[in-house]
Amino acid sequence: ILRWFDDKCGGSKRLAEQAKAVIPGGIQHNLAFNHPFALAISHAEGAHLTDVDGNRYIDFLQAGGPTLLGSNHPVIRQKVHALLDACGPVTGLLHEYEVKLAELVCKHMPGVDMLRLLGSGTEAVMGAVRLARTYTKKKWIIKIGGAYHGWSDQLVYGMRLPNTGRMEATGIPRGATGHTQECLPNDLEALRRKLQINRLRGGTAAVLLEPLGPESGTRPVHKNYNEQVRKLCDEFDTLLIFDEVVTGFRIGMGGAQSYFGVTPDITVLGKCLTGGYPMAGAIGGKRDIMMSLVGGIGTTSRRAFVGGTLTANPLSCVAGYYALQEAHRSNAAVVAGQAGDRLCRGLEEIIRRRRLPYVTYNMGSIVHLQTSGVLLLDTSSMWKLFKVRNEAKQRKHMMEEMGAAYTAHGLITLAGSRVYTSLADTDAVIDDALNRFDDV
Ligand code: PMP
Repeated sequence: ILRWFDDKCGGSKRLAEQAKAVIPGGIQHNLAFNHPFALAISHAEGAHLTDVDGNRYIDFLQAGGPTLLGSNHPVIRQKVHALLDACGPVTGLLHEYEVKLAELVCKHMPGVDMLRLLGSGTEAVMGAVRLARTYTKKKWIIKIGGAYHGWSDQLVYGMRLPNTGRMEATGIPRGATGHTQECLPNDLEALRRKLQINRLRGGTAAVLLEPLGPESGTRPVHKNYNEQVRKLCDEFDTLLIFDEVVTGFRIGMGGAQSYFGVTPDITVLGKCLTGGYPMAGAIGGKRDIMMSLVGGIGTTSRRAFVGGTLTANPLSCVAGYYALQEAHRSNAAVVAGQAGDRLCRGLEEIIRRRRLPYVTYNMGSIVHLQTSGVLLLDTSSMWKLFKVRNEAKQRKHMMEEMGAAYTAHGLITLAGSRVYTSLADTDAVIDDALNRFDDV
C-alpha cells in the first residue's frame, strides 16, 4: 500500500512535504486523512475526486458531510458566479438571500421559527449554549456522550473520539469547562440525577445532544431516547438543544428532529446548510427563545451577543439557498440515503462472505464501518472500551491502515470508518465502490 502511494502520488507527496515547512503538522483540515501523507486534490465533481497526479477516487468523504448534492454542484456554482458578478462576496449589509435562506430553513425545520447565521458549526454551538443560558438564566450544560460539538473551550472537555481515544484538550483552563457536564448516551437515570442535583445549584440551562447519538451515531442511541430526553427536559424546565450540524438536511429537509418526531428548543445547523460553501453555521429555535439574541442597534434588554464580520455574507447565503432548494427538489436525502442503504447491504455481504470481524450500519447517507470487530449497542459498555487506552491506540493504527488501503483502491472515506453518500452516488458508483471494498 505504501509503495502505491510512492509510485502514484508523487505530486501529493511533494506538496505534503512543502506544507510541513509552513503549516503545523503539514495539515490544516481536521478531517484531511494524512496516512502516509495527505492527497492534494485538483478536481472535484459529483461522486469523484481527482488528485494532482491524475488519480481518480470515489468520494465518500464528501468534505465531511456538507456536499449532499455531490461535489461542486453546477447549479450552486452558477448561482454563486452570478452573485459574485453582481455584488462580490460580502458587503456587511442586508442581502435578499439571507432572508430567503432563513425562510427556507424555517419552512422545513419544525423546531426553527427564526434563524441566526454564523460562521461554523463550532460557533453555532457556542452561540446556542450562550442563548440557552441567557434565556433560562441557568448555568449548567449537560452534553451527551463523547460527541464532537466543535472545538470551543467549554465543550471540548472530556471528549473522546472513536478513532483516537481521548482528544487532546490542552490549553483549556479548568474554569472554562466548570459548568459543562457529560452524561453517557442512553443512560436516562444518570441524566435525571444530574438534572436533579443541578436544580439545587442554579439549574440546567440545556441538554445538548446529537440526535443520532455521539459522533453521528458512532455510538447509536435507542429509538425513543430523544423523546425521553425531551420529556426530562420539560420536567426540569431545561432547554433541549439538538446539534444537527451533520444530520440537518442530510437525514431529510426537516433533519433528525422530523425523523424522530421530537422538536428541540434550539437547533444547531452547519455543513449542508451552505452546500459545502464557507460559513456553514446557524442557530435556529422557537421565536421567544431566539428573541434573546442581540439584533440590531439599540437593543437594551438582556440579550446574548453572537455574530461576526463575514456572518451571513451573500456568497454563503446564495449557495445555501440554492443548495437547499436543489436538495428539496431532487429529494437528495432520500436518494443519497438509498445509496447508503445499497452500500451498507453490499458491505454486509462482503463481511459475511469473507468472515471479517467488522460491523457496518447506516442511517440513510451516513454509513459506519467499524473494523474494530466490536460494536456494542449498549453504548455505556462501548464507552468503557474506549477507556482502555491501548485499545484506542491500536484502533487508531488500524483505522489509519484501513484508510490508506481504501485510498489506494480509489476510495476516499472519513478516516476509514465513516462514509457519506450523496445525490451523485448512482447504483453504478456504489457497485464500483463495493468491488473496491471487496478488494481491500
Ligand atoms: N457539531 C457536530 C455534530 C459536528 O460533527 C461538527 C463538525 N464535524 C461540529 C459541530 C463543528 O462544526 P464545524 O466544523 O463547522 O465547526
